[in-house]
Amino acid sequence: MSEENLKEKEEIKPSISFIEQFIADDLKEGKNSGRIHTRFPPEPNGYLHIGHAKAICLSFGMAQKYGGKCNLRFDDTNPVKEDVEYIDSIKEDIHWLGFDWENREFYASDYFGKLYDFATDLIKRGLAYVDDQTAEIISAQKGTPTQPGTESPFRERTVSENLDLFVRMNNGEFEEGSHVLRAKIDMTSPNMHMRDPIIYRIIKTSHHRTGNKWMVYPMYDFAHGQSDYFEGITHSLCTLEFEVHRPLYNWLIDQLKTGDYRPRQIEFNRLNLTYTVMSKRKLLQLVQEGSVSGWDDPRMPTLCGLRRRGYTPESIKKFIDLIGYTKVEAINDVSLLEHAVREDLNLRTPRVFAVLNPLKVIITNYPEGKVEEVELINNPEDETKGTRNIPFSREIFIEQDDFMENPPKKFFRLAPGNEVRLKGAYIIKCDGFKKNEKTGSIEEVYCTYEPDTRSGEPGSEKKVKGTLHWVSAKHAINAEVRLYDRLFNHEDPAGQKDDDYRNFLNPGSLKVLRGCKIEPSLGSAKPLDKFQFQRLGYFCVDYESTRENPVFNRTVQLKDTWSKINK
Ligand code: ATP
Ligand code: MG
Repeated sequence: MSEENLKEKEEIKPSISFIEQFIADDLKEGKNSGRIHTRFPPEPNGYLHIGHAKAICLSFGMAQKYGGKCNLRFDDTNPVKEDVEYIDSIKEDIHWLGFDWENREFYASDYFGKLYDFATDLIKRGLAYVDDQTAEIISAQKGTPTQPGTESPFRERTVSENLDLFVRMNNGEFEEGSHVLRAKIDMTSPNMHMRDPIIYRIIKTSHHRTGNKWMVYPMYDFAHGQSDYFEGITHSLCTLEFEVHRPLYNWLIDQLKTGDYRPRQIEFNRLNLTYTVMSKRKLLQLVQEGSVSGWDDPRMPTLCGLRRRGYTPESIKKFIDLIGYTKVEAINDVSLLEHAVREDLNLRTPRVFAVLNPLKVIITNYPEGKVEEVELINNPEDETKGTRNIPFSREIFIEQDDFMENPPKKFFRLAPGNEVRLKGAYIIKCDGFKKNEKTGSIEEVYCTYEPDTRSGEPGSEKKVKGTLHWVSAKHAINAEVRLYDRLFNHEDPAGQKDDDYRNFLNPGSLKVLRGCKIEPSLGSAKPLDKFQFQRLGYFCVDYESTRENPVFNRTVQLKDTWSKINK
């Protein structure tokens, strides 16, 4: 997508989403006594990714906008896959995005007692039964969307037998997988989720919060809707795959509710990105197999990865605003995300000089030992950011590719006989260079400067076609720069039937450059500080950065290079 198209897309963005319209209408009609209460319900089995940010921005955002509340609820119904490490990271990431759940940090496991009682109640009312068959057999009996299912031979057990078995399941008398509790609904329902769904299973793993108290655990579908109900959630906003679960949630709430109140579930499309995998299972695999350095590797679509890469919460929110909420599944173009971060960083980052692949230039007519301070604007988009001084001296570094021995016609950078301006300083002319005869590489370039062309001085009107960034050799700080690019080189790496997504890992997704030269003002930069390296892109200080070995991560280049290369 070109920058032009992106701009157009920004202009045609609808002002409010269909979900917001529903909420506004409910409030207008005075439903739920004018309350709005949402929740964000992550399963603590991985780090949050940018898809979760879409759900977070909606649920927290709507509550914020309409004076409501949003709960954080960990859907911790599966002790086998969950971990406290994930809980901490999830909280950190939501705060980083700028949202807060105040004291409303809940856990589905808070409701295990209530859910167990409710299941017992369903048994007593003849609406649930224990099935002794394996999950495979139960699944085979489910039928297909066009063929009704087969009733289980255990479906007509007596209430007392069911009660007894359920208690014994929870006492640990049976092996995992040997018995389940199922809701007794309708094996002929056109909705497969209504065909006597499993609501409880035996798991003998200790739970991170309830320890060994329970041997039976509610299925997600049995915990989710009721948890919303217990918390008084008015609008339960979730992704489209839950649309088909809604009749089951409603059926369960019907058995539970005593008044008019019920949570209203509204579904929206998931966020998917080109050149990215988003499933937590796959992200975990990338971490475990060492394809990335961890959940916060700057190439990961996780919020901690994006943060380390240099994304701001504002840029992520802006992107989510741009794509909006609809009922249609789609893959969003990752260049739109990159566009959003560029726009944001353009406004907020100071411009600095950094030379990634240094080539020494000696200005032969500049006095040895002389140092001048030249003044540079910190951010042309924002006058209040002021100026800074950087030192200029006889020996400087420029980028290797800003010099060519035999340039093509329209090469306006440095070449024998060519003149360029050193940004903020003088015009220089190239008179010669030193070449390593063995390797053919250029080792030094010799130039002369025109003393009356210093920027801001009377002679500075002289025009030349090229302007280069540079750093004074004597004053430069050595730095490591990590050039990150997209992790996959296929638009839809996870969507290729015959190919594993790992076959599309981009071998060039990380290039580490050492011995880069950065201007001295960067010596005091701290982790997560963000800069525009002029002419190169946006960069962010890494957590591993130290004074002795500064490390910068490239967030994004100044322009979208992928659209040119790959289309
Ligand atoms: P899984 O079920 O595979 O563990 P999940 O991505 O559904 O993964 P949850 O922790 O259950 O993970 O997600 C919490 C909430 O975030 C859910 O309400 C879900 O709808 C929402 N969510 C998850 N992924 C996306 C996505 N890609 N786009 C938008 N919302 C998402
Ligand atoms: Mg889920």
